[in-house]
Amino acid sequence: MDYYALPIAKLIEQLSKLPGIGKKTAQRLAFYILEMDPLEVEKLASSIKEAKEKIHYCKICCNLTEDEICHICSDHKRDKSTICVVEGAKDVVAMEKTREYKGLYHVLHGVISPMDNIGPDQIKVKELLKRLEDGEVKEVILATNPTVEGEATALYISKLLKPLGVKTTRIAHGIPVGGDLEYFDEVTLSKAMENRREI
Ligand SMILES: [Zn+2]
Repeated sequence: MDYYALPIAKLIEQLSKLPGIGKKTAQRLAFYILEMDPLEVEKLASSIKEAKEKIHYCKICCNLTEDEICHICSDHKRDKSTICVVEGAKDVVAMEKTREYKGLYHVLHGVISPMDNIGPDQIKVKELLKRLEDGEVKEVILATNPTVEGEATALYISKLLKPLGVKTTRIAHGIPVGGDLEYFDEVTLSKAMENRREI
């Protein structure tokens, strides 16, 4: 890092903390930013700050929203009897793009992963159970990613739901193992939803 002036080294270090950004890419981005128009840099920096300040979890489904309740939960046309459980907010976007699903969501914000010290309490499982208390929800679709952690999380939740008498289904796997919902095309994803099975 001695090759760089300290502010550049700092910028590279911060950028390289982002997912998918290695040291080389971080360096390229840092130099690019330094060549940018100061006004554009200001816009970039303030949009990061603004998004971080204004966006929080929906009180009902834990999706990211600017409001207290997200636009999906507050949409009266959505089917309130079905909840699709996903790992992250980006999965809601992927699912919405299929335009097939008309129910509600629940965003876990992670998966159970003992290796990373992430247990059920670190993700939004309690919040999901609370939503099932009034009996309005008839089906919970577990749409966590088909990874080891995603499967374990789906299994864990299905065991919690069994005594509650809610129909619990798992999306079908036309989806490759180890895959990530966000990268599937709409057809694969809607097929997976269509062929979901009870667990
Ligand atoms: Zn919501």
